[in-house]
Amino acid sequence: MGFMTGKKALIVGVASERSIAAGIAEAFAREGCEIAFTYQNEKLLDRVKKLSSKLGQNTDLIFPCDVTSDSEIDAVFKELNKYWSGLDTIVHSVGFAPREQLAGGFVESITREGFSISHDISAYSLAALAKSGLNMMEGRNGSILTLTYNAALQVVPNYNVMGLAKASLESCVRFLAADLGKKNIRVNAISAGAVKTLAAAGISGFRKMLNYAEKASPLRRTVSIEEIGNTAAFLCSDLASGITGETTFVDAGANIMGMIFEED
Ligand code: NAD
Repeated sequence: MGFMTGKKALIVGVASERSIAAGIAEAFAREGCEIAFTYQNEKLLDRVKKLSSKLGQNTDLIFPCDVTSDSEIDAVFKELNKYWSGLDTIVHSVGFAPREQLAGGFVESITREGFSISHDISAYSLAALAKSGLNMMEGRNGSILTLTYNAALQVVPNYNVMGLAKASLESCVRFLAADLGKKNIRVNAISAGAVKTLAAAGISGFRKMLNYAEKASPLRRTVSIEEIGNTAAFLCSDLASGITGETTFVDAGANIMGMIFEED
């Protein structure tokens, strides 16, 4: 019996089989969790359906959700509530900034509009999902999980305004955790190392981030979506019942390094 048996999760953020959210879904399903999904737009629906069906999930539980729309977010929980009376977990694996924001110098690239879009989609949406999903999560051992990146804390070339959005997201995790703890809902983040996904492809020079991670991390490699998925499953299970408001690094240790060793 898996350690998430009996749990029900909503996963937001599958765009392809390489998405971090897909790695999380695989681990959740393996550990016995039932999963509902959302998709951002019609282009992505077939891929999400394919994953849901591959993992043996109910493909009726796939709902449209552009996180910039409060009415779409509310509709997800309204529809889901027709199938499930309660929900244990929300996974928020969503991030976006206009492509031109993720290239060149910080001052040169940043705009008011780019700031607003990136913070709305990448940070506010976590609070919006928590707000709307709260009714279904009360009275259980709830957990909410999001995905962040170390550029929230340290400067990474080209990441620019997304670094600010991730800092806001990590702060949102702490404020949500403090507020929802009394309802027995835990809120955590995984700070993932660089992984080649659709979102990552939008960052100028992303290959260099992967190469650097391979050289700089103590394990001398990048991480897989399976490794991130396994940690997500732990954090959203009752095994992690004492952990909330935390950002856990799954990055082969890259964040601890101040300088690369030259020997290799
Ligand atoms: P991905 O492209 O597979 O997933 C990003 C998801 O965000 C997609 O499913 C997309 O549909 C969704 N999204 C974007 N705008 C949206 C909107 N308006 N409404 C609803 N959904 C929207 O890429 P990924 O790398 O799996 O990204 C998932 C999360 O992991 C992001 O928050 C990303 O910043 C974070 N992360 C990624 C890496 C990496 O190197 N890939 C590292 C650390 C953190």
